[in-house]
Amino acid sequence: MPLFVDTTPPGQCIFCKLVAGEIPAARIHEDELTLAFMDIGQVNPGHVLVATKRHAVTVLDLSPEEAAAVMRTAQRVARAAERAFAAEGLMLAQFNGRAAGQTVFHYHMHVVPRHSDDGLALSWRRQEPGAEVLQGYAARLREALAASPD
Ligand code: 5GP
Ligand code: ZN
Repeated sequence: MPLFVDTTPPGQCIFCKLVAGEIPAARIHEDELTLAFMDIGQVNPGHVLVATKRHAVTVLDLSPEEAAAVMRTAQRVARAAERAFAAEGLMLAQFNGRAAGQTVFHYHMHVVPRHSDDGLALSWRRQEPGAEVLQGYAARLREALAASPD
C-alpha cells in the first residue's frame, strides 16, 4: 500500500516533458540517469533541480543506482554553485509527498546556494522528548527496517 498517492496522469508530467526536451529549460548537466536544470522559481540565484530522467515520484521509487546518481549529480552541481555563485553554504533538499511540500510529483533534488545574509529561514519546530522516547522511536524504526526488503 503506497503511502504517497499523488501522481500525475501519464503524458502530463512537466518534468518528463522537460527531460524529453518538449518544454524549454536552462539545462546545465546530464548523465544517463539524471538531468540538472535551473529551477524556474529561484529561491536564491543559482538554484538548480536535479531530476531523475525516469519518471519516479518520490525517493521511495528510486533504484539504488538512481539514488546514487542523483546524489553524485547534486554534489557536482553543488561544487559548481559554490564557485559560480560564491556560495557560503549549500542547501540540498527534496520533498516526498504533498504533506512534505512536494509540488511536482516527479523525483527531484533542490541544490540552493546559501549566503549568511540571504534571509532564507526554515522554521523547524523542535522538541527534545527525552532518552526513553528516543529509544522507543529507534525500536520502531529498527523493527520496520528488519521487516522491509531493501
Ligand atoms: P517541489 O516543491 O516539488 O520540491 O519543487 C518543484 C519545483 O519545480 C519548484 O521549485 C518550481 O519552481 C519548479 N518548477 C515547476 N515547474 C517548473 C518548470 O516548468 N520548469 C522549471 N525549470 N522548474 C519548474
Ligand atoms: Zn515525470
